[in-house]
Parts: sequence; structure tokens; C-alpha cells
Amino acid sequence: MKKIPHIVVLGCNFAGLTVSRYLHKEARDKAKITVIDRKNYINFIPNIPIEVFNNHNPADSLEFQFQKHLKSDGSAFIQAEVENIEADNKKVFFTPSERPGAAQEFITYDYLVVALGCKLAFDKIEGFAEFGHSFSDTFYGNEVRNYLHNDYKGGHIVIGSDRFIQGKSPKLPKMPTALAACEGPPVELAFSLADWLKDNKKGDAKNITLFTPGEVIAEDAGETILKQLLPMVSDMGFGYKKETVGIKRLTKDAIEFKDGTSLEAEMKIILPNWEPHSFMKGLPFVDDQGFVVTDLYMRNPDYPEIFAVGDAAAVTVPKLGSLGHMECEIASKVIANEILGYPEEVKPLHPMVVCFGDMGSHKGFYMHTDEWYGGDTSILKMGFKTMYETLGGKVPSWGMPLSEVIGDHTIV
Ligand SMILES: Cc1cc2nc3c(=O)[nH]c(=O)nc-3n(C[C@H](O)[C@H](O)[C@H](O)COP(=O)(O)OP(=O)(O)OC[C@H]3O[C@@H](n4cnc5c(N)ncnc54)[C@H](O)[C@@H]3O)c2cc1C
Repeated sequence: MKKIPHIVVLGCNFAGLTVSRYLHKEARDKAKITVIDRKNYINFIPNIPIEVFNNHNPADSLEFQFQKHLKSDGSAFIQAEVENIEADNKKVFFTPSERPGAAQEFITYDYLVVALGCKLAFDKIEGFAEFGHSFSDTFYGNEVRNYLHNDYKGGHIVIGSDRFIQGKSPKLPKMPTALAACEGPPVELAFSLADWLKDNKKGDAKNITLFTPGEVIAEDAGETILKQLLPMVSDMGFGYKKETVGIKRLTKDAIEFKDGTSLEAEMKIILPNWEPHSFMKGLPFVDDQGFVVTDLYMRNPDYPEIFAVGDAAAVTVPKLGSLGHMECEIASKVIANEILGYPEEVKPLHPMVVCFGDMGSHKGFYMHTDEWYGGDTSILKMGFKTMYETLGGKVPSWGMPLSEVIGDHTIV
């Protein structure tokens, strides 16, 4: 009897859980699936700001248990720290992480899907622990909540990203280069924080400066959308600083940039560099930084049984959950078709930025674009009511399609 192939999925946050579930849906009982993560819940990161602004500890509602979903699929789960991958022997080394003192073990695979995300390198920013803030996990989110609700003195707030170091490899498909890992969140945060300041009579958009290491913030939104978004940022009163090169250090009252300039700030809200995990660096299937090299079917060209999805994959630029989701659909179909012997052709990744942004007060925006990748889709939808109210009637003629304006697409 033919042996059932064993698929090992490393990581079980957005990309890991999604790919495991799609793999089960596609391959059914023709594959054995084992998932490994150091924790047994999902951090629902994009909703952290909403909880913070509503004065809730994000840890109370944004950590979802996932084991029931894996169990119902018949997939196995191991709670463990992944420590090494021996690609030539198809082995993953891990140490169970429930209790300290466990001994290192290994598991073998026929297919490996790397969905381990990245390390968010706050530890590389001098002064971050003492003077920095972020929304990237529930711990940092709760610190911001406590500061805003108890200690904020009405001073200036800077929001922006450190320089992202994108990996390089001659084996990667052609991709644009991003200077910041993920700049949707800083823009969204600026809008919703300005709204919170106003509601709480602590200030407004003028308290906030957005900064970027790049030539323009949220470059991946594409020129057409930026021509609409940037005038809105300045009309609302936000400060804006570009080409900072990177963050040099944070001090009590300021942020210093690598271009030699600085800004005074009471609060410094930072998105750091997204770095691959240290054990990934130097493995034979990664780029010069440690991101997994894949083609647009999410498969490594040298080790065809190795796939990557989500932030750990080199082609995920910017580091967006929505790109990871598309990659999970592709990787699971490719693997399942191979196992089942289906000839069905799978379409390669067509990267695009899809993003819902919260602006506070039940307002929001929706963005869908592939312009930065060379495509011609560029949609920014914002309720006309939202726009009119936000700009006090000074609505610019952005060339937004009439149907989208009069449709009043307010998205919450
Ligand atoms: C503030 C903020 C807001 C965001 N908002 C949006 C948004 O609105 N829309 C959007 O599309 N994207 C958004 N993103 C980006 C999105 O959160 C990431 O793209 C997404 O989390 C990536 O998912 P992932 O599963 O690839 O990686 P992760 O979410 O980082 O998951 C990696 C998993 O691997 C596990 N892991 C890592 N290393 C090991 C190890 N050695 N051993 C065992 N387990 C390990 C971790 O525990 C984790 O569960 C936002 C990001 C931030 C920081």
C-alpha cells in the first residue's frame, strides 16, 4: 500500500493555520498533517489598535485557541520551539515548549511548509524598551493603552517604520524593493489615533507626525492611490517626514534618524525591521537575509518539497497577512494536486495589496491595488460622508470613480 505523505507545517498564526486547513480541505485523508508552534493560540494582530483605543486589554479578546480546528481536520499539533531544519535529510528539530527542560526531538516530512513569520527587531532599536511603543502584539498594545489612558500629557506623537532589509537571491522572481516592511498599519494608526485624541479632548491630527524610511510612505499603495491619500494626510493636519533612512535611537523626548535629523516626541510608535528568525539564516533554501526563497507557486527551486507562506516567504513584500492568505491557497493546491495526481493547473501568485483600514468613529477605507507590482488595478474606497466630514467639506477632486463616491462605501 502506498505510504500517506506527511506534511509538516511550521508556525500556526495566520499563514500556518490557514495553510493547514486548506491542505486538509484539498488533500483530505490522502495526507497526514502535523503543525508545530511554540504557542497554542493565534494573536489576532490587526485588531489590536481597536481594542487599545476602546481601553480594553487586547490579550483579553485577541488570543484565539486554534486546536479545535486542527483536531476537527484530524491534523496533529505539537507545541514546541522549532530550532533547525535539515533540508537534505527532510528533518525538523524542535524542543517541546510546554515546560522548560524538555529534550530536543526531530520529525521527518515529505513536504514542509514554513509559516514561521519573522522576528520583529525591536531589540535592534536603541532606547525602544524604555521610550518606544508599538501595536504589534498584545503586550505592547496593552502598554500603549495604559500610557494613552493614564499618562499621556498631550505631547507630540511620531508614528513610523524602521528600515526593512529585504533579502536578495538570484533564484527569486523579480519583485519591487520595499524600504519598510509594512506601512499600512502606521497610516491606519495615525487616522484612528487622531480620532481618539479628538474624542478624548487630548488633541487631533496636528499632534501626530508620520515618518518613513522610504521616498514616500506606503509606497506599495501605488502612485494613483498615494495621489489621493497624501493630500488627505496633510489637509487633516498630520506632520509628515520621509527618507529618514532608518531609526538611530529613541530618547525620552525625541526620535533620532539615520539621516542625522530628529523629531521631538512624547510618544514614539514604531514598526521595526521584520527579520527572519536567527536559526533560518544560512539554511540552504533561504535568501541572504534568511527569508525562504520560493517561486510564485510558493515552492523552493532547490528543495521542491519545501514551501513557504506568509511573512517567512521572501516573495511576501510587503509583509501583509492578505498576501500570505493568497499564498496559502496556492501552496495547498499545488501540494494536494501533486499528492492526488491531479493535473489541474494552479495560477501563480499575482501579488496585490488588499487592505481594510480603520479610521476610528466607525469610519474606514478599503484599498485594492497591484500598481506597485506593475499592474493597473488601483481602488481606494472611502465613504463620501467620511471624506466630507473628515475634510470639513474641502473634498479634493481625486479622480475617484463617481460610482464609488456616490455609493458611500463606509467600511467599518
Ligand atoms: C500592528 C500591525 C497591524 C497589521 N495589520 C494588518 C492588516 O490590517 N492586514 C494585513 O493583511 N496584515 C496586517 N499586518 C501584518 C500581519 O500581521 C502579518 O503579515 C501576519 O501576521 C503574518 O502572518 P504569519 O502567519 O506569516 O506570521 P506570524 O503572524 O508572525 O506567525 C508566525 C507563527 O510562527 C510561530 N513561530 C515563530 N517562530 C517559531 C519557532 N522557532 N518555533 C515555533 N513557533 C514559532 C509564532 O508563534 C507564530 O504563531 C499587521 C501587522 C502589524 C504588526
